[in-house]
Amino acid sequence: MNNFCSAPFRGFYQGLDGKISVCCQTPVLIDNNNYEEALQDEKIKNLRKKFLKNEIPVECKICTKRVRNETTKLCESDNENFKVDEHVPVFLDLLWSNKCNFSCMGCNPRISSSMLKYKSAVDLVDPYNTLDANYSWDSSEEQQNRIDFILKHKDTIKSIHLNGGEPLMQEGFYDLLEQLIKYNATNIGIWSHTNGSITTYKKKDILQLLKKFDKCKIIMSHDGIGNKGEYVRFGLKQGVWLKNYNRFISENIQVDVQVCYNVFNCLQLEKMADWYEENLNVKPNLSLWNWPPAYSAQYIKKNKKLYEEAMLILDTHGKRFRKYEYIIDFMKQPFEYDMEEMHWRFSESISEFDRIRETDFLKTFPELEELYY
Ligand code: SF4
Repeated sequence: MNNFCSAPFRGFYQGLDGKISVCCQTPVLIDNNNYEEALQDEKIKNLRKKFLKNEIPVECKICTKRVRNETTKLCESDNENFKVDEHVPVFLDLLWSNKCNFSCMGCNPRISSSMLKYKSAVDLVDPYNTLDANYSWDSSEEQQNRIDFILKHKDTIKSIHLNGGEPLMQEGFYDLLEQLIKYNATNIGIWSHTNGSITTYKKKDILQLLKKFDKCKIIMSHDGIGNKGEYVRFGLKQGVWLKNYNRFISENIQVDVQVCYNVFNCLQLEKMADWYEENLNVKPNLSLWNWPPAYSAQYIKKNKKLYEEAMLILDTHGKRFRKYEYIIDFMKQPFEYDMEEMHWRFSESISEFDRIRETDFLKTFPELEELYY
């Protein structure tokens, strides 16, 4: 069945505000912290009905075939007997909470608790950052609820993907790993993102826990080198990041590095690739940063010369990263937003970030002067 997706039958996603869905594309969102009930909600049953008829539900129109296929692969299990009324948890994708020690450009307070003090700058750059959003949805009660659900279904769950916030500074994540170890469920694959600042938390060492699992992978984010990287991922100390990367490697934990291609680093790709080749033993994955639009690399189209320079660098050095082809396609697509408005949003938000953080954009990125005011 070409149009089939198994996420509504086998996937479980918990995202912002603790709402429930079946995948990270959130075709539907259910506000019910009784997860068993949430997974039998009519909206999710309707997704199942459509897929069983080989139809793509209207709610999934935002999704791509690539994501649908990748999600279906992640949800593969021994039980491929799909029923409208049955949900068997196989793949869990969790934003554990928004507790985070970084305030990266492009993030917002719903995803990082540290961004709350920069909300005035976020509101300037992100046209949809809502005032009524829940900026504090990290509760230990909710974390225990999630752990109970996972333990109940430990025999069918094959992998758990964690995002944040910063998962490695969330006590509940350590509790979960300890519980899975206690109940001999270390066959469950653990896959977590990290900003690279932490490997121990409250005297617990994440490496000692992860090592007990048959399969685990850490994805370390890194969006630029030196002071440019530290400007974009505010809170980053490059030396600490590299030390932690080497710790994971020396303990034989699989590490992937993810670089988000954006307006701040699109002219730096060659230097970044040099640094990664010199310091890492993995080729980083180049992923796309398309929100907020004023920080996406497409905004560089404001200046033709800078755009051509960025494309030349991407054509020449993109191949030193994995999955760079998607980025080339993205950069060739038209910028769908009003350039004047984005210019205003870019300049005003950067100026506000600089004011609150006492940073200096022009001193850090003199090559981007033409995009600013
Ligand atoms: S088709 Fe896409 S949006 Fe729909 S359930 Fe599958 S992965 Fe999610």
